[in-house]
Amino acid sequence: MDDRFERVCKAAGKKVVNAEYLNDDDRLQLERTLQQFEAFAKSYIDLALPGHHIAIGFYDSLQVNAFATTCDGQDAIGISWGGLQKLRSEFVRAIDYRDQFAWLPSGKELEAVDWLFDCAKYFIFIHELGHIWHGHTSLLQTGRVPAFWFETGPLKGRPLSKIDRQTMEMDADGFAADNLFDFGLEYRPFPGINSQWEQTHGTGATRLLMIAMSLHFTFRIFNKPIDFDPQEQQVHPSPPLRQRMIAGSLIAAALRRNAASEDDAMYIILRGISEAEWLYATINGISPATEAITAAWGNEGHLYQRKLLRRWRVLRPQLDALKRSGELPAIQDIPEDD
Ligand SMILES: [Zn+2]
Repeated sequence: MDDRFERVCKAAGKKVVNAEYLNDDDRLQLERTLQQFEAFAKSYIDLALPGHHIAIGFYDSLQVNAFATTCDGQDAIGISWGGLQKLRSEFVRAIDYRDQFAWLPSGKELEAVDWLFDCAKYFIFIHELGHIWHGHTSLLQTGRVPAFWFETGPLKGRPLSKIDRQTMEMDADGFAADNLFDFGLEYRPFPGINSQWEQTHGTGATRLLMIAMSLHFTFRIFNKPIDFDPQEQQVHPSPPLRQRMIAGSLIAAALRRNAASEDDAMYIILRGISEAEWLYATINGISPATEAITAAWGNEGHLYQRKLLRRWRVLRPQLDALKRSGELPAIQDIPEDD
């Protein structure tokens, strides 16, 4: 990890992970993850903003958390190393439920864990990249005070209302889902194929379902209340609502690439979410949060999403002047009384 990341981490009040203290496996895992993130950022930067630099690294913490920042003109992304390890261990536990993965060829378990983990890691990383790329961290900045966009805990920078913050979280999720589709569906197949799903719902159904499952675990691990959030108490939209909105981006990406029909993609994503919820609840000895998921996918979720989209109308012009490059999602015309 470079000096620039070290400086940023210090300003964030975090300590950079010292790879020397990790065991061999963890050190390799850390190096591999850093290479993946740097390669992704480089390909994105080379395409859209050559010469730009984003410092990337991991900090020492057991909490599942991450930050994006613009600090003294330096863009940076920091991810809790302990949080990532916790996520990986959940995938290891999940794959142990062989009944659920009876279609996975035996001997492919570790590869499947790595795939699910990579998908989750990329989502987290690209979500943070979205906070930088779409100008969120710049909006947070006031004068020369560094702005730190932490996923959990208070932001450092200009105060933002919960609804503004939730709206930008929705935007970062959409950015991540758009890019994740390329990673998950086109470049790297899942190490097993469920032929029944593929025959019924088209080629790529297994990978799409595994993306939905990986993301569901990721949201669950954040360990926030999964209930619907009508009072706007949280800094993110409720996890099931985020998944509903992400599904929209994944389906749009699938349609753009003719990878699945809208109905098939929707069915597969919902099935992935419900299978993942069952698995997560079983592993952790809790009841599945079926009600919160149903509420997010019903009218309540629809109205909440429209509230965020209305707020986007106000934020988009401000972010448009601050974004690093590219097109921000369009404003949708949604009447106040809808
Ligand atoms: Zn975020």
